[in-house]
Amino acid sequence: MIDPFGRAITYLRVSVTDRCDFRCVYCMAEDMNFLPKADLLTLEELERLTLAFVRLGVRKLRLTGGEPLVRRGVMALVNRLGRQIGPQPGKPGLDELTLTTNGSQLTRFADELAASGVKRINVSLDTLEAEKFATITRWGRLPQVLEGVMAAKAAGLAVKINAVALKDVNEHEFDRMLGWCGEHGFDLCLIETMPLGEIDADRTEQYLPLSLVRERLARHWTLSASDYATGGPARYYDVAETGTRLGLITPLTHNFCEGCNRVRLTCTGTLYMCLGQEDAADLRAVLRAHSDDVALEAAIRAAIARKPKGHDFVIDRAGRKPAVARHMSVTGG
Ligand code: SAM
Ligand code: SF4
Repeated sequence: MIDPFGRAITYLRVSVTDRCDFRCVYCMAEDMNFLPKADLLTLEELERLTLAFVRLGVRKLRLTGGEPLVRRGVMALVNRLGRQIGPQPGKPGLDELTLTTNGSQLTRFADELAASGVKRINVSLDTLEAEKFATITRWGRLPQVLEGVMAAKAAGLAVKINAVALKDVNEHEFDRMLGWCGEHGFDLCLIETMPLGEIDADRTEQYLPLSLVRERLARHWTLSASDYATGGPARYYDVAETGTRLGLITPLTHNFCEGCNRVRLTCTGTLYMCLGQEDAADLRAVLRAHSDDVALEAAIRAAIARKPKGHDFVIDRAGRKPAVARHMSVTGG
């Protein structure tokens, strides 16, 4: 699948649920309205849709949400998708199956994830201070997540810690977090806040440019630009003192669209061709109308042909309106 700008679409992110056991301040309002269960694709439908993408050239799958590990039965899906890893009869198959999680359920699922062929996971963790963690996530508890992270490590999963950089909240903790990640062999990836969805907080007050964070970190750590790439939008630095990496995702200070190779599927079967644009394709209708996959594959190709060149995120100081109305928990980031 090649889009109009010559980019090969090889990476699909699948949001398996919009629900979550946390209510992170930058992601959700506290009293979120979730989708009625009837609107969701079944796990079987999600699998069928995902496999169509794999047939069309997707090599990397990431399950996300909401919190992917709170969807009932999700491990059956992980297991089945895991069978697509590696060369398949007559086709290349998946290079990688991975997921992004808040870590709350990892003590339960880490071993099973590893057994299903998952090699790496991203765990979102913005702070190592318990009280701050509870404030940011509203409903989350740090010890549970740390236990989950250690279970993942013990299961042999490579862990990348993702932290959203929040002004005045965790901005002075990154030295410590980089050290902690280094001790455990985890890469650390910092993310700028993105203006997605109405939340209770004011995003202009949360926004912290990562150029500043990198300058501060460079006072204590030897950072050298790395050509490491995971297929995602992060730019990486090798950290000489730890042997691990620091990744920076800067959707606002740096245009990360140029090399975009991904599209996003929601748990209702809506395909978003860009995280920062409203245009989407309803694949659920096509999926349910046809029992064979010819029309489905045509609908996917037609959607890819509409992939826009890029997003136009701006943190709007005057209007305080999100650039895109849907929450990150719809598309999973
Ligand atoms: N619940 C899982 C988790 O937290 O890892 C997966 C879904 S979550 C929406 C995916 C990632 O998006 C998390 O790392 C989260 O911190 C990030 N995120 C959520 N809202 C964001 C926003 N407005 N700006 C930047 N990152 C955001
Ligand atoms: Fe849930 Fe992830 Fe959003 Fe936090 S960032 S509320 S854990 S979906």
